[in-house]
Amino acid sequence: MPPLPRVPVRKILAILAETYPQARTALDFRNPFELLVATVLSAQCTDRLVNRVTPGLFSAYPDAAAMAQAGPAEIEPLIARCGLFRTKAKNLAAAARLLVEHHGGQVPDTMEALLRLPGVGRKTANVVLSNAFGVPAIAVDTHVFRVARRLALASGTTPAQVETQLRRRIPRLDWAATHHRLIWHGRLICHARLPECGRCPLLALCAHGRGL
Ligand code: SF4
Repeated sequence: MPPLPRVPVRKILAILAETYPQARTALDFRNPFELLVATVLSAQCTDRLVNRVTPGLFSAYPDAAAMAQAGPAEIEPLIARCGLFRTKAKNLAAAARLLVEHHGGQVPDTMEALLRLPGVGRKTANVVLSNAFGVPAIAVDTHVFRVARRLALASGTTPAQVETQLRRRIPRLDWAATHHRLIWHGRLICHARLPECGRCPLLALCAHGRGL
């Protein structure tokens, strides 16, 4: 793994906390099952669109038991506005069956069990663990990956490496909040193509932003 430069981690976290005190997931959900499904749908799809799709989906299939009765062909039209909807419909139908067969229809609260569900990778599992069960976790999505590397909080070249480095550097109790704050920062200021460094509260601490 590439070596980590020394950066004032506490100071960066404090500024992020001050800038985004209310940062939370943008996905609407009422229980772990809904969050799991919404997070699976959010790959290649905006959270806003997912929030427009899920009410209809949950009205037809309110829980794992109901969704387990459905085939992918029945789920597809309900999620067709999301990218990769055929693969997602197949994964959701299979995941719902697995939840019913192995977990009494409930979403498990361990990384190991979540990763066994079709369509669920570390990012989705971390989102569910932290937001549905309050388990400290850092999900590394495209925003977290980009912003953490620009701020030199991480130097890894894969999401798994960045997750490992962030877990080492950030106090455990701050993992979930930092995850949300990095996402908000990536969405609002530190954009992928044209970051607005001129109005970034972290500019003084960011070598990338200062072109160093
Ligand atoms: S200074 Fe620029 S690159 Fe650095 S975190 Fe802020 S917006 Fe992103």
